[in-house]
Amino acid sequence: MNIHEYQAKERFRAAGIPVPPGEVATTPDEAEAIARKLGGMTVVKAQVHSGGRGKAGGVKLAKTPAEAREHAARILGMDIKGLKVGKVLVTTAEDIASEAYVGILVDRRSQAPTFMVSPQGGVDIEEVAAKTPEAIRKLTVDPRYGLLPHQALWLANALYTDPAVIKQAARIIQQLYRAFVDSGASMAEINPLITTTAGEVKAIDAKMSIDDNELDRRQDVAAMRDSSAEPWAETRAREAGLSFVKLDGNVGCCVNGAGLAMATMDLVKYYGGEPANFLDIGGSSNPDKVVAALEIITSDPSVKAILFNIFGGITRCDDVANGIVTATQRIDIKLPLVIRLTGTNEALGVEILKKAGFSAYTSMDEVVEKAVQLAKA
Ligand code: GDP
Ligand code: MN
Repeated sequence: MNIHEYQAKERFRAAGIPVPPGEVATTPDEAEAIARKLGGMTVVKAQVHSGGRGKAGGVKLAKTPAEAREHAARILGMDIKGLKVGKVLVTTAEDIASEAYVGILVDRRSQAPTFMVSPQGGVDIEEVAAKTPEAIRKLTVDPRYGLLPHQALWLANALYTDPAVIKQAARIIQQLYRAFVDSGASMAEINPLITTTAGEVKAIDAKMSIDDNELDRRQDVAAMRDSSAEPWAETRAREAGLSFVKLDGNVGCCVNGAGLAMATMDLVKYYGGEPANFLDIGGSSNPDKVVAALEIITSDPSVKAILFNIFGGITRCDDVANGIVTATQRIDIKLPLVIRLTGTNEALGVEILKKAGFSAYTSMDEVVEKAVQLAKA
């Protein structure tokens, strides 16, 4: 689950990290009122689950409350990387002397939280990693002991030379580790961590992703979900209990079982196609789930053909076939659809589908090749 900058900043503040004051607005009026209350220069920032807002025109400095209002009017409703801006953060502007990067994520290779810091902040860390990898210092944390004080100092030493500044940064890095662990995060990032012209270290941006598996035991974190800011298909999939990942191809895949879904995607590629998604509808013949799956797949304009690959184990193929027939009666599908059923009662299932006018098969190769051809046609 992704959370907004203003929400991540609340968690950072609670952990003691210095964050400039600010509030969220959903209208230009509110933005102006907040800017007036804060006084002085402010920054109006688009709240979307995406980085690179600055480059997209979603971060603007305002000298007056009236200017904050104008910026808010322009930013609210803006489209940033396919996400619509519904909220802006109005926050006090800082006099920036330097911008650094501080991030922590769960690293698959070391199987532990890993810090990455760089004195080259403000830009994409991926860009720094590609061009000047030597400008990044990494540290893997042993979660049994947490981040030790000397480790935090070692990281801060990569960012600054002034001992007073290093001390502030080391404290912030430790506080970030606490916020990361306490939130059940898989990623937390401050980009940029700034020094002000007065020599203070502050977080002026905040990003955090929460591990979905941590949400059940963290009500306060789960309550931060903003479904209106998530891609529609993801919300729909979560509510219907489907595992869904959007991809860039044009063959919409609807499969029962994660392993079979992966194998299906591989076979789509083998036959020269590209899967539009990973979608596991689980082991059920419930037509509601099939309806949700079809809605999700057909909401993607790049999908040109739909491929069902169903293995009937405990779920019987005839039940699944009936589920698919019921679902397609409830939703109007204009795309070509091919179905492969195998396992318990497969002959019966194929017969039900053929009677209803579908192309149904029992061979996985045959159906995938067919789907790839249809998507290309
Ligand atoms: P992002 O583009 O989505 O990562 O949004 P950021 O919050 O990182 O803002 C982008 C850039 O805007 C920062 O790197 C800063 O250079 C600039 N910026 C943001 N807040 C302030 C501020 O308070 N004062 C000044 N002078 N610049 C700011
Ligand atoms: Mn940033």
